[in-house]
Amino acid sequence: MCSYNPASFNDRLLLGLKGTVSEAELHVIKARLRGGILNKARRGEYRCPLPTGFVYDELGNVVLDPDLQVRETIAYFFETFSRVGSASQTVRVFKKEGLRFPSRMRNEKLITFQPLTASTALRTLNNPRYAGTYVYGRRYYRRTADGKNVPRKRERDDWLACIPDAHPGYITGEQFQQNLKILEINGRGYEVARASPPREGAALLQGRAVCGLCGRHFRLRYATRRGRQEAWYICDRAQGTRGEPCCQSIAGAPIDEAVGALVAAMVTPTAVELALEIRREIEARHDEADRLRLRAVERAQYAADLAQRRFMLVDPSNRLVANTLEYEWNDKLRTLANAREERERSQQQDRLALDDAIRDRLIAMTADFKTLWRDQSLPNRERKRLLAYIVEDVTLVKLPEEGTTRIHVRFKAGRTETLMAQNPKSSAQQVKTRPEVLELVDKLLDSHTCSEIADILNNQGIRPGGCVRPGKADIRFTALRVSYLAQRNGLRTRRDRLRDRGMLTRPEAAVRLGIHEATLASWVRHGLVTRHAYNDYAYLYEVSDSSLPAKHCSRWDRLTDRVARMQAAQESRPSHPIKGVVV
Ligand SMILES: [Zn+2]
Repeated sequence: MCSYNPASFNDRLLLGLKGTVSEAELHVIKARLRGGILNKARRGEYRCPLPTGFVYDELGNVVLDPDLQVRETIAYFFETFSRVGSASQTVRVFKKEGLRFPSRMRNEKLITFQPLTASTALRTLNNPRYAGTYVYGRRYYRRTADGKNVPRKRERDDWLACIPDAHPGYITGEQFQQNLKILEINGRGYEVARASPPREGAALLQGRAVCGLCGRHFRLRYATRRGRQEAWYICDRAQGTRGEPCCQSIAGAPIDEAVGALVAAMVTPTAVELALEIRREIEARHDEADRLRLRAVERAQYAADLAQRRFMLVDPSNRLVANTLEYEWNDKLRTLANAREERERSQQQDRLALDDAIRDRLIAMTADFKTLWRDQSLPNRERKRLLAYIVEDVTLVKLPEEGTTRIHVRFKAGRTETLMAQNPKSSAQQVKTRPEVLELVDKLLDSHTCSEIADILNNQGIRPGGCVRPGKADIRFTALRVSYLAQRNGLRTRRDRLRDRGMLTRPEAAVRLGIHEATLASWVRHGLVTRHAYNDYAYLYEVSDSSLPAKHCSRWDRLTDRVARMQAAQESRPSHPIKGVVV
């Protein structure tokens, strides 16, 4: 037994060397181990932990989980995602339906069912193994300064192994790629034009309406006005981030109506496309069946060939055997002919069934779509999902001068369509008095007071603008309303108009006539002077310069007599008299 003394130089050197060598050995062993793993992984043979829903069978092959509930839940998960188009909405659907998602404990047979979380949903959607692809090395580990191993993601091209169709999966490879694309689009930031998955709001073009001025996607704003929910398409992203003014804000209802009508009209060609899709599906199924039938034919052919060879090989002189073999050969040939015939007939039938099926589906679908689209009980989210199959995006440009909005609809197939929609009038515009009414009021003010005008308008059946307000349908014009209207619209007042025509106020008229204001009132009463009302209680007096009635005061010549004389004089004179002036 020899021991090393660390105090001795030679011993210490030897110990150091041994340490170095063992370190190198460890490295080599590890490298070999790793190399072995990598080689196995590249061949797709390395057994790594499987995601829930897959197990290794006795032979070490990856198979779908034998537990039916696990399998069906995962299948339902993918189906839900392809329906709703968003991971978080899939989570919501699971929650709403009270479904739980399976999770298999690692290295254990135990399966737990837990509520689906967004992270589980994303992990499941991002895992290529569900598409039957064997992958290895999607992540690598970096050692941090504090000695922890932190996983990092590798780019898809840098994965150490990626073997498509290595084992059965829950979805196809194409579907997996499509899911990734949807997730990427959903996850994009606000700035990029993106189509968001349909949500429950009323606005039909949610996530599909693009601003025609700046190219950003519209946001939606809902407001309840007069008991109705109104949707607005608003482009205010630049406002939120850069303090710029709101780009466009467009009322949703007319736009949705126009696009809805267009889609309902457009659905026939789309239905044809869908029908073609179905045709392809049915054809694929028939091809599968045909392949199976072909196998039967091949088997019969093989049997017939075998019987023929046996017959050829037999000694012709051995009649008994030769007869039996010939009989057998004939039998096989008959079977072959039957199989071929059967195949032909089935192909024919398939073709017939295909045409009938397509025609029926086509007719049903066109009718169904229209009914469905107009069905009030159909949730908006479903309508938007239908729309998403047909419309790629819709660009809106508001034209405030014309009071319209231009709608460019881009369909999935690349076709475009341009529509115009009338913008709804603002509340102020709705209650505004019509210009022709204003004109009429302007004309009437020349000869009528405001209360007279109100009566005239009411009698003509003209109603004030405010009657469009809810519960205000029975309001009528009043003097106050007419004078407010005149004032707001800068019409000249009746008083100004009368003054322009030379009418005098009461003091002015009294001074002009040289009488007292009380006498003036009396003259007016008796018709010596004409006065004109400019509102319900104030007047202006018409006093002509040419013939002022003389001031007269006599008990024997009373005012009534003067008026009678004046009227008599007027009647006798044919020329048009100046009204209200005493001769
Ligand atoms: Zn904009």
